Amino acid sequence: MPDPARSSVASPITRLIEAFHRLPGIGPKSAQRLAYHVLRSSEEEARSLAEALLDVKERVVLCERCQNVAEHSPCGVCSDSSRDRTVLCVVEEPLDVLAIERTDGFRGLFHVLHGVISPADGIGPEEIKIAELLARLRDSDTEVAEVIVATNPNLEGEATAMYLARLLGPLEIRVTRLARGLPAGADLEYADDLTLGRAIEFRQDVS
Ligand code: ZN
Repeated sequence: MPDPARSSVASPITRLIEAFHRLPGIGPKSAQRLAYHVLRSSEEEARSLAEALLDVKERVVLCERCQNVAEHSPCGVCSDSSRDRTVLCVVEEPLDVLAIERTDGFRGLFHVLHGVISPADGIGPEEIKIAELLARLRDSDTEVAEVIVATNPNLEGEATAMYLARLLGPLEIRVTRLARGLPAGADLEYADDLTLGRAIEFRQDVS
């Protein structure tokens, strides 16, 4: 039986409301507001939103080296010859790269894991880009002498850092972790530039 409250709304609108509701951080009220905003906006605005959504799927690739999202592979950071190729910063998500770039305190390379090890959620090392990291560091051309593990300061982030430190031990690469001072349990992407910049500057060796 159709929901009477819903049947009063034309189905394309219901579809749009449901699509917005599936986005992170968007509750049912916000989803409705967004859908009615699109309904009221010009066809040109709606088309530009739809095209931006498709473009992000069609024109964004993963960089073959750092696994970050980019328009080309290798990405701008990986192909920038002025970057310090001896230091590699490992982060959880593409947004963390943006956060660290904003601090202006890091000129090395990145590697994006696309997640963290989390046995509770069934995410093991194979589910994230650890094999790709290892392949990069084992490559005979690698100049990497230090890996900064910049995973978030929470349980999964720490466990992933420990796992990486053990894994990279035999490669004789220095493994460091961001300094304490980042709010525990917080996400890197929400840290202010100064705090994050200091956490990079005063990074510590993982024992
Ligand atoms: Zn790259």
